Amino acid sequence: MQAIRASVLHCLADPGEAGRKDAWEYFDDGMLLVDGGRIVDAGDAGRLLGALPANARVRDLRGKLIVPGFIDCHVHFPQLDIIGSYGEQLLDWLSRYAYPAESRFADAGHAREVAQSFVTELLRNGTTTALVFGTVHPHSADAIFEAAEARGMRLIAGKVLMDRNCPEDLRDDPDSAYADSRALIERWHGRGRLGYAITPRFALTSSEAQLEAAGRLAREFPDVWVHTHLAENLEEVEAIARQYPDSRSYLDVYDRFGLLREKSVFAHCLHMDAEDRSTMAAKGGAAAFCPTSNLFLGSGLFRLTAMRDAGVRCGLGTDVGGGTSLSMLRTASEAYKVLHLQEHALPPMQALYLATLGAAEALYLEDKIGNFRPGREADFVVLDYAGSSLTARRTAAAEGIEEKLFALMTLGDDRNVTSTWVAGVEQVV
Ligand SMILES: [Zn+2]
Repeated sequence: MQAIRASVLHCLADPGEAGRKDAWEYFDDGMLLVDGGRIVDAGDAGRLLGALPANARVRDLRGKLIVPGFIDCHVHFPQLDIIGSYGEQLLDWLSRYAYPAESRFADAGHAREVAQSFVTELLRNGTTTALVFGTVHPHSADAIFEAAEARGMRLIAGKVLMDRNCPEDLRDDPDSAYADSRALIERWHGRGRLGYAITPRFALTSSEAQLEAAGRLAREFPDVWVHTHLAENLEEVEAIARQYPDSRSYLDVYDRFGLLREKSVFAHCLHMDAEDRSTMAAKGGAAAFCPTSNLFLGSGLFRLTAMRDAGVRCGLGTDVGGGTSLSMLRTASEAYKVLHLQEHALPPMQALYLATLGAAEALYLEDKIGNFRPGREADFVVLDYAGSSLTARRTAAAEGIEEKLFALMTLGDDRNVTSTWVAGVEQVV
């Protein structure tokens, strides 16, 4: 058994806009007990030290803060090398930057190299689980799964489906999309901690025949995820309305093809009405809130309060390369600003929830990850208040864990990650 002594913080529920204090637990002189890759207990060091078994190894990290491993609900690993590309909104950004980068993934060796770097970057930022887009090439999914498996990570990914409105060399077709996805599901879904996501890029780049094939897969494999984009950009929403004139809304397009169900995760969800929100909640779909991407691409503001009030499961996503950072601390900071612009609040504990337990709920993994209840998988991150000289000064002047956490989110990044642990194993990054 391992016993790690540090401050320990985790969420038990959504603290909401009021930052409810009964929704999270904090142990200033705390301890996390880990055995066999799982959480045994989390609590006050004084209580747990007295009952430690004789063979327990105690690691003293006092002064640091342990939180559950961050969960990124939406990210594209093939876009790592075009993060921070200048000057376009969604549709032009895809053509100018994303598609050329994804074309390079025809080379399986390139895919493997980027996948290794991507997984290392996730861990460097304290992210232990992610829902990941590949490219249209089936070997892109193999590459990210192999990289995650080598680390023992709980990671979900899929090969992209797209057969229209995109470059010729990035197209599959309805039959190959079905056959390749099916083969990947059979190879990877449920292998160790890995999971598969059926991944149509968005309704604009899939024919109706392909969306039908995706829906058929979703019915045949109810346990796999569905991962796509929804209502990110106004020009995109207008194009969808022209392409699918019989659908009530963009969400309705996915719903008609059987792609709105439990374990369906939709990135962005910016331009939706109340009926869409209640439909999404009723059918168990989830939203990935990607603030750095939404601001960077000029897409719009996510209505977190309305989504949560409607009962939609929500988690944070980085959406790299449209997003500008793999750090969930940086992402939480931008989420705060997005809420502020809409005259709402995002208390630090709710931001932590969206990056951990809330994200686990969005992925239907809350019985496995997201907090430190006994029996959960031991994915966690050790944060360092003194990761930069400025965070050291600011957190030293802070009163209480909420103020300290907010300062870490506002000023911190990967410099504030001391170590990242996957299933109880400290990762070398
Ligand atoms: Zn995306």
